[in-house]
Amino acid sequence: TEFASLGLNPKVLARLDKLGYKKPSPIQEQFIPIALTGRDVTGQAQTGTGKTAAFGLPILEQMDPRLPGLQAIILTPTRELSEQVSNELERLGPKSLKMAVLVGGRPIRKQIRDLENGAQMVVGTPGRVIDLLFRKDLVLDQVKFVVLDEADRMLDIGFRPDIEKIMKRCPEQRQTLLLSATMSSEVERLAKRYMIDPDRVDL
Ligand code: AMP
Repeated sequence: TEFASLGLNPKVLARLDKLGYKKPSPIQEQFIPIALTGRDVTGQAQTGTGKTAAFGLPILEQMDPRLPGLQAIILTPTRELSEQVSNELERLGPKSLKMAVLVGGRPIRKQIRDLENGAQMVVGTPGRVIDLLFRKDLVLDQVKFVVLDEADRMLDIGFRPDIEKIMKRCPEQRQTLLLSATMSSEVERLAKRYMIDPDRVDL
C-alpha cells in the first residue's frame, strides 16, 4: 500500500516523501482511512509503530489551517512523549501550523504566550492542561479533534480524573481518537464513555 491510496492530499504526500516515509506502517495503513471519514477510532499500537502519524495525518488533513483558534488537543502521559509527538506533528503539518506544548516542568509563561498567540493544536499532559484550563488560559470550546495517546499509561499514572474534566470541556461534536498499547477493560471503559461508536484497529 502507498500513502497516496489512503486519501491524503498531494501537499501532505509531498511532505511525507521529503521526510523519507516511503510506505505507511501497518497501523497507518489501517487507521488513516477510517479516521479520515471523521469517525471515532481506537487503535492498539505500541510506540515506534508510527502511531503518531497514524492519528496526526487524518487530523492535519481535516483541520482548517486558515482558522485561527484551537482545533485539536492531544493528551499524552509524559512530558517527553508530548515533546516527541509535537515534534513529529510539526514535521508532518504545514509550516504555518501554530502549536503549543503544555507540560509540567517547563515555564508556564511561554505556554500561556503560545496559547495567546493563537495555537491551533496543543499537545500536553493532563496535569498541566488542567492547570491552564482552570486558569482560563486554555479554552476548548472550538476543539474538533481530541486524541488520547497511550491511554493505558495515562490511566496507570492516575490521570483519569483529569482526563474526565478535560473531556467535559470539549464540544460534543468532535472526533475522538484513542491509542493504547493494551486495550484493558479500563481503557475500554474510557472509550465507551467518551467516544461515539468507535471503530477499532488492532495490530
Ligand atoms: P511513533 O511510533 O509515532 O513514535 O514513530 C516512530 C518513528 O517512526 C518516528 O521517528 C517517525 O518519524 C517514524 N515513522 C513513522 N511513520 C513512518 C513511515 N511510514 N515510514 C518511515 N518512518 C516512519
